[in-house]
Amino acid sequence: MTNNNMIFIANWKMNGEKRHIYDINKTINFSKNSKIKKNLIIYCPPFTLISKLKNKMKNTNIKVGAQDIHYLNNYGAYTGSVNAKLIKSAGADYVIIGHSEKRFQDDDIMINKKIKSALKEKLKVIFCIGETSKEKKNKLTLRVLKRQLTIGLMNINKINNIIIAYEPRWAIGTGKIPNLIELNKNIKNVNKIVTDLKKNQNFRIIYGGSVNYKNINELIKIKDLKGFLIGSASLRSKNFIDIIKKSTN
Ligand code: PEP
Repeated sequence: MTNNNMIFIANWKMNGEKRHIYDINKTINFSKNSKIKKNLIIYCPPFTLISKLKNKMKNTNIKVGAQDIHYLNNYGAYTGSVNAKLIKSAGADYVIIGHSEKRFQDDDIMINKKIKSALKEKLKVIFCIGETSKEKKNKLTLRVLKRQLTIGLMNINKINNIIIAYEPRWAIGTGKIPNLIELNKNIKNVNKIVTDLKKNQNFRIIYGGSVNYKNINELIKIKDLKGFLIGSASLRSKNFIDIIKKSTN
């Protein structure tokens, strides 16, 4: 069976200088294949490379996103901050919100404000949720996911522009992934929580956390997963392409 309509998001985190962009040519050429075109590829570089990448992606199907925003839509005296309007003007179509590497400063209420701010500027949102290892150990995963989703999506009527990324915090950057039974159960729970909250609206769930070209063969067995958020394995086009190839075969 061929998987189409999958989502592949490259999160470059705090990596990437102008001179590193040339490597993306490989992904661009690969993305022109008619089979691959049916899928959605998004690059989320640091703020400094958004407009460069946007330029590079002209005449391709590849989208560009940011990794975070300030929660306020208006301009103002917020030194060091970048908001939804600014990333949009730089060329972003998407933004990651609630990433575990930012949750040390953002609680669920702040994440909800940021999501609303992004949607107001007509950006699409990649909303990250996931439990810590301590929460997992204490069997709190379901409760945590419910809380993150309920508060994160509070007062948001339409979620068709939100991709939900289930990223267990203990799996990010550690080389560990959940066992398939556990992952399947958590994805089904996320599906049910969001469906109950948002009355059967369309949304897609993806997985993130140490995805690589080796474990992707296992992860694609979870049929409810519509794609992957990929950190370190997205830094080199070769590895990123391998993951996409294996997921769409
Ligand atoms: C991420 O940055 O969201 C991520 C999943 O990172 P990694 O793939 O490196 O674990």
